[in-house]
Amino acid sequence: MSQPGSSNALIQDLYDDTEDLHKLLVLKCTTQCVEKDYHKFATSQPHRKLPNDEFRPWRRYLDKLSYLCDFERAGHTVAGVIAHAGRRGKTLTFATNCSQGRIRDMMLDHIKFVLRELEGSRETIDELVEKIAIESIELSRRKAEDYGDKLKRELKRIEKQIPKTANSNGTAHIYASRKASSLIVVVERKMLNSALNLLQGASSDPQRLCSTAAEILSRPEYAYLKKATGSRYINVRHFLGRLRSWHVASRYVVRYSKKFSRQIGGARVELLPHDMFHRGQTVTLPSNADDVLLWILGKHKQHFLPSLKGKLDFASGFLEKNCNTTSVTIIHAEAALAQWAYMNEIDFIFGDRYIGCSKPSCYACDMYLSRHPGDFVQRPRHGNSWFKWCPPRLIEKPDDRTTSRILRAMAVDIQEDLDATLAGKDLGKRQPFESTSGIETTIRRIHEAMTLQGDV
Ligand SMILES: [Zn+2]
Repeated sequence: MSQPGSSNALIQDLYDDTEDLHKLLVLKCTTQCVEKDYHKFATSQPHRKLPNDEFRPWRRYLDKLSYLCDFERAGHTVAGVIAHAGRRGKTLTFATNCSQGRIRDMMLDHIKFVLRELEGSRETIDELVEKIAIESIELSRRKAEDYGDKLKRELKRIEKQIPKTANSNGTAHIYASRKASSLIVVVERKMLNSALNLLQGASSDPQRLCSTAAEILSRPEYAYLKKATGSRYINVRHFLGRLRSWHVASRYVVRYSKKFSRQIGGARVELLPHDMFHRGQTVTLPSNADDVLLWILGKHKQHFLPSLKGKLDFASGFLEKNCNTTSVTIIHAEAALAQWAYMNEIDFIFGDRYIGCSKPSCYACDMYLSRHPGDFVQRPRHGNSWFKWCPPRLIEKPDDRTTSRILRAMAVDIQEDLDATLAGKDLGKRQPFESTSGIETTIRRIHEAMTLQGDV
């Protein structure tokens, strides 16, 4: 962290107006962008794994329920839920950042279907898991197809990087040694070929895409390649995991539905009306990359432009792409639920002030929840920033000093974080590949086993 007033602080003490939060989030997005590598971020806030405690299954249960009713493609929507008890009895209150009536209705119908099945089904556990997963995948067709397309593109991209034969030269930059190289090449090509063959023909059928992903994940060559080749398969792992996620979520809610039947059984289900909050702002970014940075710096720190530009050289494509664009800021589900619960003094089930969500929280939501006086439980976070983020302000509470206080605190936190990020040595660097040292024995053993089976 840079110290206030230090000569390295480009950003700190620059903003005291909460309206400028948007500028800070644009800059945070810029620092996180690594061009041509859209799934890797030079983030200062890595994914948080929360400690195990007695509430962990309950919190995961709420996350999985939310996941099953979030149908749109990654990043487009988030669904959240609070389980509470009050005058009107047990209730699950959901929220989504999606404003389309048709999708909101589908979401509500689907979660009622899932809860009905969990309570009243006479099928076996496996049959019930399959039934809920299939219905959820069907409603999330576009999301599954999108993951499938990205998975195939990523596999083909890696395939092009791998030499045609084990004897090809020029692999030293990829692998730790020539010995490891020749063995990995054989197994890696086998895995890539079989994965692409399996995916061929499954692309127009989301159910088959999901079962194919499970098949790829179960193959022995995949299991050790992900260790052998480190972060090269980070995106492949991500998309395979996403395609399997409906079955994972379905199994989890089926498994825990009995345990939580007293808390959830017979609960009312409702969706927060999105018009209970003030609408997001329309924001147009300046027309070229330099002007975007000048807009972020404001009048008083314009002389820092060359310095900031130099640091953000790696993100020039991101700035060019987003300049001159107009967007409307969006309220995220967990922030909306937090503010609604706080203002209405909601009585959380188990007294556990956790907000379930279909995804880990973004940079701004994580900061918002941690600065909120509602004493909410920390959520998992992915740490990525979206500059269209908007604070939730309830229309029925016009004198909302709580939100103003939270935003002021967030502005201070983000400025400190930005200065630390801009001064950091990893700014704009891709994550290095993990070392392959120490894996050669394992590779040789698996290769020998495969040779004996006639697989290679
Ligand atoms: Zn968020």
